[in-house]
Amino acid sequence: MKDNTAEECNAELQRAKESQKAWARVGRRWEYQELSAMVPDEASRRSLVDHLENKGFFVVGEPLRPAHCAVPSSQETGHRPEHQRLLEMAEGRTEEACHGLLTGERLPHQQMTMFRYFCMATLTITHRVPEETVVDFKVTEWNDRQVSAGVGATIYFRDGADRAVISVDEERWLGAYFTVIRPLYLSWQGEAADDKGCFFLGTTGRPVANPRSDLRRLWRRCRKICEAAGPTPPPLTAEAAGTSSRDTSSVSGKGSRDDQWDAFVSEFPVTMGALAPSKEDHDGAGFGDERTHYFKWRRFQLEKRVLHVAASAGRQRPTEAKVAAVVAKERWKTNVPSLPDVLEAWVSPLKAAIEDDEGVLKSVVEQRWKGIDFKDFGEHKGRGVIATMPFSKGDVICDYHGKLISESEGKRLMDAMQEGEMCYLFFFRGRLGTKLCVDSQNFPCECHPGKDTFGRRMNHSGKAANVKPVVFQLNFPDGAKDAVLFLAQRNIAVNEELRWDYGVRREVFRR
Ligand SMILES: [Zn+2]
Repeated sequence: MKDNTAEECNAELQRAKESQKAWARVGRRWEYQELSAMVPDEASRRSLVDHLENKGFFVVGEPLRPAHCAVPSSQETGHRPEHQRLLEMAEGRTEEACHGLLTGERLPHQQMTMFRYFCMATLTITHRVPEETVVDFKVTEWNDRQVSAGVGATIYFRDGADRAVISVDEERWLGAYFTVIRPLYLSWQGEAADDKGCFFLGTTGRPVANPRSDLRRLWRRCRKICEAAGPTPPPLTAEAAGTSSRDTSSVSGKGSRDDQWDAFVSEFPVTMGALAPSKEDHDGAGFGDERTHYFKWRRFQLEKRVLHVAASAGRQRPTEAKVAAVVAKERWKTNVPSLPDVLEAWVSPLKAAIEDDEGVLKSVVEQRWKGIDFKDFGEHKGRGVIATMPFSKGDVICDYHGKLISESEGKRLMDAMQEGEMCYLFFFRGRLGTKLCVDSQNFPCECHPGKDTFGRRMNHSGKAANVKPVVFQLNFPDGAKDAVLFLAQRNIAVNEELRWDYGVRREVFRR
C-alpha cells in the first residue's frame, strides 16, 4: 500500500469506513433505541438486553443503569457499557500476550500495540481514569504505586489527585507492558525524541498523543475478534457462568473472575499429568472462547510440575540433565519446567538448615528477633525497622508474623477492607502447594497480644530493598508449619532501614 497515491489511500479508507458502517447495521449489534421501540416496558427491555449480551451480541447506546449512575464520568467521556464488555472479551487474548511477553516471546508489533491500548483502556474504562491523566501517567507514579500483597495495587496520578485500585491481574498486564514493550520502544527512539517520563509511549518512544483514536482502534479490533469467534454459547449452568456480566463492571471485577475460575477448575482439575483443556473442551463446557483460564490453568500445572521435579532432586542441586530425566519419565511434552524454575523451588541444604534451626524456631515462637528494632521515620513514612547489628547476605532477619489462615479466609478479610486501606495480608503458596495467607491485619495477634511485630512494619522499596521474603516449612516439635521469613538480600550495616519489595512477592511466592 505504500506505493499507492494519496487518492488511492483515501478511497481505501472510505471503503473501510463504508464496510464498518455496513457491519454496524447488519452485524452483531443492537441499537438500544431500536429495542426501546420494540419493547416499551423497561424491565422487559433490560432483561432482553441481558439475554442478548449473554448470547454474545452488543447492545450499543444503552443509557447507564441506576447502579452505574454514581459514576458520572462514564457518559461524559463517551464510555459505554459495551466497551467494558469488549474489554472483558479481550482479556483472554491479553492474558495470552502477557504470558508471551513475560516468558520472553517476541510478539508481532501489532499485538504489542494492542496490548498497550488494552492497558490504557483498563485504566480509562475499568477504572474511569480520565484520558488526559492516562496520557500524562508518569513512570515515577507507576514506580510509587502502593502494592498490597495478593490484592493488587493503588496508583496515584497527578500527586494523588486521581487514583486507581488495580487488581493483581491488571498489575501484571501493566507490568508486562512496562518491563518488555516500553523499553523496546525506547530502544527504537530517535535521538531527538523525548519520553518525558511518561508511562505510555508510542512506537517512536514519544508520549502517546491521541488516546481516543488508540482506543477506537482497540474497539475495532475487539469487535472483529468477537465477530470472527461467532456467537458465544450460553453458559450451561449458573455456576459455570459465575455472576452475570453486569457485575464485572465493578471496580475490580475480581469476584466474578474468581468464581468462573473455580467453576473452570472443577470442570478441568489441574493435575500434573493432564493435558490442558482444548478449545473444544472449553466450548463444550460452556466457557466459550475463554483463554484467560487456559493460561492460568497452564501456570498452575507448571507450578505443580516444578515442585515435583524439585522434590525428586532431593538434596542434590538440580541440573539440566536431572530436569530432563524427570520430564522424559513423566512424558511431559508441553508446559515443561525449566531449570531456573526448578532451582528456585528446590530446597537447598542451606534452606533445610534454617528450617531446623532452633534459634529461628524460638524467635518465631517468642517474636524476639536479635539485631533489629523499630524506628519512627516521621509523619510521612511512619514506623519502620532498622538493623541494630550487621547482617550478612542470606541471614534470617525476622518473619512475617500473623495468624496462618487459608487463602479463602484471607480473601474474605480482604473483601471487608476499605478501598485503599493498607493491607497486611500475605498471600502465598505453602511448600506443598497449599494456598495460604498470613493475617497480620488483625493486630495485635492472639499469640502476642502486647507486641508490635517487625514483618508488618517493614517499609516497601523497589530499588533499595535489602531483605526478601522466602517461604519455609519450619520443623517445630509439634509438626512442620509454613512460614514466611525475611532473608538479607545483601550485607546490611547497622542503622540501615530494612525494606522489601512488596512487588516481588508474586514471583517469590508462587510456591
Ligand atoms: Zn503472635
